[in-house]
Amino acid sequence: MLDLSTRDIKFLQGVGPQRATLLNKELNICSFKDLLYYFPYKYVDRSRLYYIHEIDGNMPYIQLRGQILSFEILGEGRQRRLVGHFSDGTGVVDLIWFQGLKYVEGKYKAREPYIVFGKPTVFNGRVNIAHPDIDPADELTLSTMGLQPYYNTTEKMKRSNLNSHAIEKLMKNLFAVLRHEEFEETLSSRLIEQHRLMPLTEALHNIHFPQNPELLRRAQYRLKFEELFYVQLNILRYTQERRNKFRGLIFGKVGDIFNTFYAQNLPFQLTGAQKRVIKEMRRDMKSGRQMNRLLQGDVGSGKTLVALMIMLIALDNGYQACMMAPTEILANQHYETITRFLQGMSVRVELLTGNVKGKRRETILRDLVTGDIQILIGTHAVIEDTVNFSSLGLIVIDEQHRFGVAQRAKLWRKNLCPPHVLVMTATPIPRTLAMTLYGDLDVSVIDELPPGRKPIQTIHQFDNRRASMYTFIRKQLQEGRQAYIVYPLIQESEKMDIKNLEDGYLHVCEAFPEYKVSKVHGKMKVAEKEEEMQRFVNHETHILVATTVIEVGVNVPNASVMVIENAERFGLSQLHQLRGRVGRGADQSYCILVTGYKLTEDTRKRIQIMVDTNDGFEIAEADLKLRGPGDLEGTQQSGVAFDLKIADIARDGQLLQYVREVAGHLLEEDPQGIHPENAIVWQHLKELRSKNVNWSVIS
Ligand code: ADP
Ligand code: MG
Repeated sequence: MLDLSTRDIKFLQGVGPQRATLLNKELNICSFKDLLYYFPYKYVDRSRLYYIHEIDGNMPYIQLRGQILSFEILGEGRQRRLVGHFSDGTGVVDLIWFQGLKYVEGKYKAREPYIVFGKPTVFNGRVNIAHPDIDPADELTLSTMGLQPYYNTTEKMKRSNLNSHAIEKLMKNLFAVLRHEEFEETLSSRLIEQHRLMPLTEALHNIHFPQNPELLRRAQYRLKFEELFYVQLNILRYTQERRNKFRGLIFGKVGDIFNTFYAQNLPFQLTGAQKRVIKEMRRDMKSGRQMNRLLQGDVGSGKTLVALMIMLIALDNGYQACMMAPTEILANQHYETITRFLQGMSVRVELLTGNVKGKRRETILRDLVTGDIQILIGTHAVIEDTVNFSSLGLIVIDEQHRFGVAQRAKLWRKNLCPPHVLVMTATPIPRTLAMTLYGDLDVSVIDELPPGRKPIQTIHQFDNRRASMYTFIRKQLQEGRQAYIVYPLIQESEKMDIKNLEDGYLHVCEAFPEYKVSKVHGKMKVAEKEEEMQRFVNHETHILVATTVIEVGVNVPNASVMVIENAERFGLSQLHQLRGRVGRGADQSYCILVTGYKLTEDTRKRIQIMVDTNDGFEIAEADLKLRGPGDLEGTQQSGVAFDLKIADIARDGQLLQYVREVAGHLLEEDPQGIHPENAIVWQHLKELRSKNVNWSVIS
């Protein structure tokens, strides 16, 4: 069998050093195998011939068989064109070329049979096809015509004539080299039989040169199956290995601390959803296995309280707990919230961030080791090597998408037996995506908001109606509320980003001379930024003008207006996160999405979804459909392979769930990975892990 991964692409017929460099740089294609796995993004059906008299104005690509009756040159200057009058006996169409006139006229002969392929347009009752593809109508051409593949290429490649057509030719050369060689199969024959999959060799042929739509469908299915199967198998295998390696602390009881809190300090009734997720976590923590759970809950659903109660269970069992937030200001807020919740109880809570230095820091580090401190709240500072606990039993990570899998793993080493881990996120993740991103975590969902919240009203406003918007904001401020005004981060141009914000800031200061305005952006020093935020939190300022730095977690219940400028520049998830900054108190809150007048269809849809619903999961599903998974927040840092070549998590959700079960079964039947019939599978997984950086991170 052939090892294509070691054959340099420059040695393929038709490539050479120059094209090889382009292929390397532009598409990351270095070997024969890389090319083989560069799949078409679409296909055009060339399996059927049309008659000219059938053509109407709204056909996509069509194919005709006939002869060129004659050529003529028409027009002047830029209109100069070569026209070939082409007939199949049922009518005449005009084939038109604006470039390469000489070449075309020399190449194609009148009165010879050709297959012509292109997109017809009807103009003045005549049918034209501009720059058609033409092949001789011999038997060979006719017999090999199925669906024609189209490959993505970059502008740079196109300028060097390395377009889709050229790639198609290279692919033909590649298959000519391979002739009838078989590729090494990557799935076991058992899987192939059980799930009626096309064998690899056949699938690779058909993904590039499908003879008909049915074969194409089967080839795609096979390759998607394989791709998703290995992603899932990798995650499940990893989870299994972790479980075998680590036992979990057993938190068997709920004791005094939890019970006192519940009876005396809990200021309100827990929602049904809060109770349910607490139960799910209790079950994990007494199971003897390490808890690794993701808690999803929309903004304002009360995750902090859940985290606190779980931490109290750790305390009741004689362990310490630790909570980690992505920013200083969030850590501060958690610290304040939690000390307030625990008022009157003798639980020692401390805050550790980068700002805690000198004596104070020393004391904290010392009292952690002696076990005097029971709950530690902080930023990344808490996972530094200098921070040691006497017996850390639980770690809570807030706003998960800032922490990768590898960072999470680092936390386990903070105790002899790895502590339980709870990650919390307010970014609702569609089920299918979660299975890939956080496939190693069990998932709990808080799908209910505390009672009495008024849903945020969302309004779409064109930016030429600013005056009435300001009147509205002023009324809110007069009632003692506060407002956010957010500007988009323009990543391509930091300068413009700041300018946008500066202009907005000046504008707002002018419009609201009687109020104080804070300004916060990503280019400020962390300390400066946090100080300014704190002023807003303390109600020393009334309006906060900011870029998206405020996105995560800040809690200012008094703020009732969120204005998002250039809302068209934000993704749905981001809009939803930003909107979640208001509506945290008992008052009616508002979100105003400001856009320009001209909007694309896509943007219009996004804005409409925001106006229509406050449900984060609905929005996440819609986002996944509109944008595809690559752009979703958190995916880059997730540590799980996201460069899927053929499967699409948004569209192949069903298949994903199916292969996850298949992978689960296989692991159950063969937990040691020793059955000979699965040898191919384990071998291939090992190869993938060794080659794929993302995959090895979590193994
Ligand atoms: P998030 O899930 O976004 O982190 P928080 O934990 O900050 O939400 O909770 C939002 C607000 O709701 C807080 O002020 C919190 O005290 C309050 N809260 C939490 N649970 C309940 C409940 N069961 N009933 C009423 N208010 C609650
Ligand atoms: Mg929170």
